[in-house]
Formats: sequence, structure tokens, C-alpha cells
Amino acid sequence: MNIQDLIRDNVKAMKPYSSARDEYKDASENMIFLDANENPYENGMNRYPDPQQNELKVLLSKKKIIPTSNILLGNGSDEVLDLIFRAFCEPNRDNIITLPPTYGMYEVLANVNAVEVIKVELSENFQPKVNSILEAATPKTKILFLCSPNNPTGNSFNHDAVNTLLSNFHGIVVIDEAYIDFSEEKSWIENIESFPNLIVTQTLSKAYGMAGIRLGICYASQEIISVLNKIKPPYNVNALTQQRAIDQLSKRNQFEDQVEAIKKGRAFLEKTLPKIDIIKKTYPSDSNFILLKVDNANKRYNQFIKKGIVIRNRTTQPLCEDCIRITVGTENENRELIRVLESLI
Ligand SMILES: *Cc1c(COP(=O)(O)O)cnc(C)c1O
Repeated sequence: MNIQDLIRDNVKAMKPYSSARDEYKDASENMIFLDANENPYENGMNRYPDPQQNELKVLLSKKKIIPTSNILLGNGSDEVLDLIFRAFCEPNRDNIITLPPTYGMYEVLANVNAVEVIKVELSENFQPKVNSILEAATPKTKILFLCSPNNPTGNSFNHDAVNTLLSNFHGIVVIDEAYIDFSEEKSWIENIESFPNLIVTQTLSKAYGMAGIRLGICYASQEIISVLNKIKPPYNVNALTQQRAIDQLSKRNQFEDQVEAIKKGRAFLEKTLPKIDIIKKTYPSDSNFILLKVDNANKRYNQFIKKGIVIRNRTTQPLCEDCIRITVGTENENRELIRVLESLI
């Protein structure tokens, strides 16, 4: 597959915008910086941030064992996903495929970019219907979004199904791995060399406990990364975010302990929830949340709110009638959740 054929013509014709900090990179202390119209009085934040977030990428590169040239960072996954749309999808012409029930942002971003959405529902057990997906694709289908582990269903997609899609879909395959750190499955990052059309996205918003700083991560071939780099706003990841992300990624034990605690909480909930009367089905989870089918999702949602617990009502999503999605909390929060569930009549 030739990636160049998938890129929009206007993007292909662009040269990367060169910011002041791109043109002179050496940040040695004793230079006098009069090139970017910054305020010269130091307060820790008076300078523009590194447009390539090099220190942060080096940390990620070591952690994920992948060169920094295969990494692009954004203001949350949301920005990364939007950049992918803008690189590959011609407004009012191209389309994408999503597999509902899934993360809502793919469709929102498609609408913002005037890109049509072809929806191919997951199977009853929330797996991609490979043949239907390949049949639904047209010459104008540029991106296929696979969310694994999937939100809101919580399960990971079958490895062979993903492999078949990567080999046979003639466009970009985005695998959204926002929940990969809670999963027993391996990340698809290590397959980037084998599949030139593969983009893997991850985030610091879930397992890393940094939803507030907005840091999304994209791993792909250098060819794809250089296209996305060309169109990203130069200073898209601010200095505060870069600093907090570097601090967090250096605290190795805290991350591992918290992920372990959340997985233990998930196991406790998966064992306890099926015993509760109003719960009709507890779906298996490979993430930090659990999808439940209850007797009446709207009624139970409102009861939860009255008891001071906010959950997500997913009843309007395809295949999710009377389903609610519950995030795994702290040990105390999980016990309180069970106490409230047992009290509902
Ligand atoms: C939470 C979530 C994200 C995270 O998005 P950010 O913009 O990085 O916070 C991405 N994808 C899915 C499927 C999610 O559920």
C-alpha cells in the first residue's frame, strides 16, 4: 500500500511551518533569545515550549522501545485523531468506518471535518465483523477506527481479526489503545514496521492518571509521523503539560502500583456484580471500567445520582440496551458502589 496515495493533495503540497524554536533549536543557557518576540523577564513560563517535545519523546521512546521519529504528541488523543482526519480525509468527499458501539469522538471529528461515517456494528460478542467491514469499504474510505480495548464494551478485539483488517483494508487503520495498560493483550505498537498503514494512539488520560494535562500519543511509521508533523500547530503541547508528563513518566512504581490496584478492583467487581439482583449481565473487561446490563438503565441511573454516584448510561448505544458503564474506583469507592447497588429496589 502506498501511503502517499492516501494523503490529501493540499497536505502533500505543504511545507512544514517553521517556528522560531524550530529554526534555532540549541537551548544552551548562555544564548540571548531575541527571535520569538517573547517577554525577556524570566518567570519559568515566558518562553515558547519545545515544538517537538524532545525530552518527553525520549522518555516514551525508552519505555515503549521505539524511535522518537515514530512518535507524535498532541493536546489529548482528541487532537491526534483530528490531525489524522485532516491529513487523510478530503472534506465532503471521503469517508471513514467506525464499529459501534464505540468511542464517540471518531464520529464527532468526522462531522467537524465534513467526512461521512460508515458504521459497521460489532458482533453480539462485541468483535469486529471482518468481512462486513471489508465489504463496506469504498475507494473513498480513508480510515478504519478500531478501539481495543473498546469503550464502552471494555473488551479487546480478537488478534487475528485485527491482523486481517490491517492486511486487507486499503486505508489507514487507527488502533486506539487508550486502555491498553489495563489489558492482558499486547500493544500493536511493535507491529508498526510490518504495517505501513497502522497508527496506534495512546494517552496519559487513563492509566497514567493525567487526564487534566491533555497528552495524547501517536505511534506510526516515520512517513505518517512526518505528514502529521507538517500540519500540527507548532506549539500544540504546552510547557506545563510537557513538564508534568515528564515527572509522571519518571515515577515508575506509582504507575505500576495504581494499575495493579485498579485491576484488583476490577476483579473484585467482576466477582461481586453478577450476584446482584438488578444486574442481568456483567460483560468481561480488559479495561478500567465494566459494562453492565441492568433491568432498567434510565431508572437505575437516576437512583445512582440520588445516592451520590455518577455512572454512564449507555442505553442508547447500539447493542447496549439497558447498559450502564461503571469506572473502577478506589477500594472504598468500589465497596460503596456495591453497597448502593445492593440497596436498589
Ligand atoms: C478516554 C479515551 C481517550 C482519551 O482521550 P484524551 O483526549 O487523550 O483524553 C481516547 N480514546 C478512548 C477510546 C477513550 O475512551
